[in-house]
Amino acid sequence: MKTVIIGGGLAGLAAAYKLAGRDEVVVIEKEPELGGMASSYSIDGYHIEKYYHHIFAGDKELIDLIEEFGLGSRLEWLRGSTGYYFNGNVYPMNTPLEILKALPLMDIIRLTWLVLKAKSIKDTAPFDDIIAKDWIIDTAGESVYNNFFLPLLSGKFGDNKEKVSAAWLLGRVRIRSNRGTKGERLGYMRGGFHALVEAMADDVRKKGGRTMRGTVSRIEVTNREIRSVAVDGVSIECDRVISTLAPHSLEKIIDTALLGHELNISYQGTACALLGLTEKVMDDVYWLNIKDDVPFGAVIEHTNFIPASDYGEHLMYVTSYFQSSDSVLWRSDDEEVIRLYLDGLEKLFPGFRKKVKWWRLRRDLDTAPVYEVGYRKKVLPYETGTRGLYLAGMFSEANYPERSMNGSIMAGFKCAEAVMKSEV
Ligand SMILES: Cc1cc2nc3c(=O)[nH]c(=O)nc-3n(C[C@H](O)[C@H](O)[C@H](O)COP(=O)(O)OP(=O)(O)OC[C@H]3O[C@@H](n4cnc5c(N)ncnc54)[C@H](O)[C@@H]3O)c2cc1C
Repeated sequence: MKTVIIGGGLAGLAAAYKLAGRDEVVVIEKEPELGGMASSYSIDGYHIEKYYHHIFAGDKELIDLIEEFGLGSRLEWLRGSTGYYFNGNVYPMNTPLEILKALPLMDIIRLTWLVLKAKSIKDTAPFDDIIAKDWIIDTAGESVYNNFFLPLLSGKFGDNKEKVSAAWLLGRVRIRSNRGTKGERLGYMRGGFHALVEAMADDVRKKGGRTMRGTVSRIEVTNREIRSVAVDGVSIECDRVISTLAPHSLEKIIDTALLGHELNISYQGTACALLGLTEKVMDDVYWLNIKDDVPFGAVIEHTNFIPASDYGEHLMYVTSYFQSSDSVLWRSDDEEVIRLYLDGLEKLFPGFRKKVKWWRLRRDLDTAPVYEVGYRKKVLPYETGTRGLYLAGMFSEANYPERSMNGSIMAGFKCAEAVMKSEV
């Protein structure tokens, strides 16, 4: 059986890893590097993710996979310090004492109550039809919403913030509230997640599979059976296709009636700059959420998480989600986006510009589904109405109620299982 996998991100590579050796597997990726949203730059002898990445203790499939490839010793659990920028100051928000300095006492009591309540909810499905904002205000009041959650929701979802479901929020609160007195521990692979992407791709190749660069422009189907895919004008015959593309990209390359499922998941984009710096910018904050009039929602000083000595320089991400292709962050050229970001950084940290040695900018339109109310019903199945056509990615059940590397690896595995089951 020949299986073509469209997309060499984690979902595609995970499916390929499970199927290679038993199927003839071809992974087709349009970008020069594999890894998709988790791909990396190669800079002066080191690798660093194009978008900031870390993992959580509950990311079981991902952690097991890292171990399986003998890369476990690279996985380290480090303090991921967070902070808030507002009223012209950086407020560290790691310990109860620090939080007390940033929020009124009454808000802290209500926030603690909200967190306890969120943690006690086992089944989030009924919260899929409730707006997160309404649930927060009902549970903890307007002040907690305005002072704490509004900047977070604005940073993550922009204009869509009032559409997001309480199910998404509950998922996030549960993951992010597992912190001790010294703050949250986050996982990172020293040397970067690049090593995992490479290990997966190498394993596929060792088992006789292929990874190739190309853009799939059509999936050909006859009598509800997969025939071939068109890649840069060349037709590749196959028995099966696994698509990991965002639903609205998939609908451009196939007759959607063949899927037996509606494709109506909205996505949002990200414009993320990585800056190489001569010196550190913040004292001890890895992740800074920002409540100020600047064109980005967060500043992530990577080398306040992983030591700068690993890179020989300081590294910082500056990032913003955007909600449509009309956004200035998508329409403008790279230099203009960087100018906007640097102007904002100069406002927050006077003298910032002088520290910048180099920059890279990565932008994509489909970086995260918008987990709006009613999202759960839109989740796409692994198996479709067309024989031989499978789906796995950020839109899969495994990535609900938040997409992650672990979710996409699990989606790839589950999809491969569905493929194998269909043959029994
Ligand atoms: C800003 C940002 C920060 C993140 N931070 C974290 C984090 O800290 N922790 C975490 O666990 N997760 C994080 N994630 C999420 C994680 O990176 C993704 O959920 C995961 O990598 C998605 O994998 P995927 O394979 O499902 O999709 P993708 O990575 O999107 O893979 C799809 C692939 O298909 C390719 N493709 C598209 N069209 C075609 C075509 N026509 N032909 C061929 N190839 C095509 C794309 O180039 C892409 O490589 C983050 C994501 C972003 C954007």
